[in-house]
Amino acid sequence: MKENNVRIGIYPGSFDPITLGHLDVIERGAKMFDKLYVAIAVNVRKKYTFSEEERLDMLKDACKHIKNVEVVSCHEDLTVEFARKMNATAILRGLRAMMDFEYELQMASTNYELNDNIETIFLMTNTKYSYLSSSVVKEVAMGHGDISKFVTPYTSNKLHKKYNY
Ligand code: ADP
Repeated sequence: MKENNVRIGIYPGSFDPITLGHLDVIERGAKMFDKLYVAIAVNVRKKYTFSEEERLDMLKDACKHIKNVEVVSCHEDLTVEFARKMNATAILRGLRAMMDFEYELQMASTNYELNDNIETIFLMTNTKYSYLSSSVVKEVAMGHGDISKFVTPYTSNKLHKKYNY
């Protein structure tokens, strides 16, 4: 905890685009911190479907009702470095079924080795969204299917535009 007792967390991810599963983690995570930064990863080596601006725009719209959440871009290669700069003491991540565990364990352990002042905290997925991922939503949108149960209406519109339906 920082000396001024303000608890700051960061929730990093691609959010390509934000799903209701992400939003659920953000809403629950926001209750655990005084301030929660949702940090969009901007990695030049990675290819995203939506641009940084589009991902920021959709995230900002989805989070506008949560007062202590701020959406930011993370151009930093290392999440722990970004967390340190933002004075965060915790990295928040979501865990779905088995598929996330190995990767998240590896990342959390590595990040702890890099900076042991920053803890990674996991929130179990809401069972309603345990199957939900940005890629699955894009698959459905590509096939012009109904995505209204997976994303906010605003993001749904953006997906319709992207996939022409
Ligand atoms: P990344 O590319 O960093 O994995 P994502 O945007 O896919 O970025 O996910 C960001 C975080 O949100 C990860 O910790 C991921 O496990 C979590 N997450 C994604 N979808 C869900 C979901 N449906 N329920 C809970 N957590 C989720």
